[in-house]
Amino acid sequence: MSAAQVRTLLRLCTAALPNETGGILAGHYTARHEMAHVRAVLPAPADSLIGRSTFERGTTGTRAWLDQLWRERGLYYLGEWHSHPHASPDPSPQDRQTMRNKSLIQAYACPEPLLLIIGGDPQGQWQAATWVFPQWEPNVELMREERTSARPTEETA
Ligand SMILES: [Zn+2]
Repeated sequence: MSAAQVRTLLRLCTAALPNETGGILAGHYTARHEMAHVRAVLPAPADSLIGRSTFERGTTGTRAWLDQLWRERGLYYLGEWHSHPHASPDPSPQDRQTMRNKSLIQAYACPEPLLLIIGGDPQGQWQAATWVFPQWEPNVELMREERTSARPTEETA
């Protein structure tokens, strides 16, 4: 995941505070399928359900977005992302259930969807954790990182 994409995610998380937000990750895998490269980040679709500790991603526009990425850049659905403002980046029981939902797998023909969660303060100390949810095996944590964003200089509006 490039620094630019991380900045995009943190900006979306910040804009949604104090609520959660999220969306879809698209990209491709390396030739031997050992690594996913995230190349595009979809912000929350308009019909997403959003609250302080709730995020249920909607579907409006997602098909068109993915179709266009596939046609123009050869990218495909890799998984989901969402924020846990001021909380840990570990998936909740609801998150695990969502990722195991057959409809997700069928809709995107993706047997091993990823889940990226950004926890903490998107403007300060944040953590990101990425999990993979293989269809028939327990979920596995792929990586975790913790960083501090440089706070934007206070600008008067
Ligand atoms: Zn969650």
